[in-house]
Amino acid sequence: MSDIQTLIRNEAVRLLENHEVDVVVGFRTGTTPLHPQPVFVTNAEDAQDLILDGFCQNNLATYLTRLPKEQKIGLIARGCETRAAHALVVENQHARDHLYLIGVPCQGILNCRKIESLVGENILSVEETDEWVIIRTRNGDHKFDRQDLVHDSCLRCQHPNPVSPDILLGDSTEVVESELACQVIEDFEKRSSAERYAYFTQEAERCIRCYACREACPMCYCAECFVDHTAPRWAESMISPSGTHAWHIIRAFHQTGRCVSCGACERACPMDIKMTYMTEKLNQDMRQQYGFEVGMDDAGQPPFAAFSLDDKDRFVS
Ligand code: SF4
Ligand code: SF4
Ligand code: SF4
Repeated sequence: MSDIQTLIRNEAVRLLENHEVDVVVGFRTGTTPLHPQPVFVTNAEDAQDLILDGFCQNNLATYLTRLPKEQKIGLIARGCETRAAHALVVENQHARDHLYLIGVPCQGILNCRKIESLVGENILSVEETDEWVIIRTRNGDHKFDRQDLVHDSCLRCQHPNPVSPDILLGDSTEVVESELACQVIEDFEKRSSAERYAYFTQEAERCIRCYACREACPMCYCAECFVDHTAPRWAESMISPSGTHAWHIIRAFHQTGRCVSCGACERACPMDIKMTYMTEKLNQDMRQQYGFEVGMDDAGQPPFAAFSLDDKDRFVS
């Protein structure tokens, strides 16, 4: 881990000193052990603050639509962050020549909720290697196999290595076909309509409509989300079953063929609501029906966002 941090810091210094970027977006140590924070580094001295470990939970590509378009951004990017960055370039949210992708192979984000449920919240410090994680608490040390703590979305990940970065730091991660990736879709498909609705309702009823999932998502960037729109109102804003169902279903459809499967929405949710099974299923449909996978280059439009006069299906006219 420390080797990759040195590589990241050196590259950030080089980019800032040569004025190749205006800002490097990465992570720094947070105020509590499990929670590193996103940071915007604009001068070479501060590049020594940059870190990257399994506790860095955010998808940093989210900031591409938050920062001024004219800024040249150096983005420290794992697989899902490079894919989100390419998807945002395709959607004209940031110019490719104002973006420098500092690619870092990924071993998966660690599940902080699982760690806290195993050791409690009195965590003093953490230590991580490629194989294990040690959590130091007031009551003693706890050592875990790293793989046992990886977040579900990262266990399903098929693209841990950066896609078309401007520079690749460190050695590529070995990609193994994920049984869990297929399992989540198979579980969904083998349910009856009634069982699907029951599962969806059970998850949705805990939702407090805080929209942390939206804020954490790199692909949710509308200036005014449909759910906040008042004239016309597309979904009830109060916490009612119909309004909450509309929120989750419409959001999932907005992500069809656009979701990069990073899991940032689920990690951000204070109620631990799991809805990425829907976007995983929709992404699989996109792969099977259109041969499309989001964020694999800077050119491919998501099928549901593309329009062609030659479309053989005259469903509109
Ligand atoms: S989904 Fe998880 S494992 Fe895959 S690149 Fe993103 S953070 Fe890494
Ligand atoms: S919907 Fe969730 S998993 Fe998909 S891109 Fe957004 S934050 Fe990532
Ligand atoms: S973060 Fe969780 S509780 Fe908040 S709106 Fe999203 S699903 Fe609902």
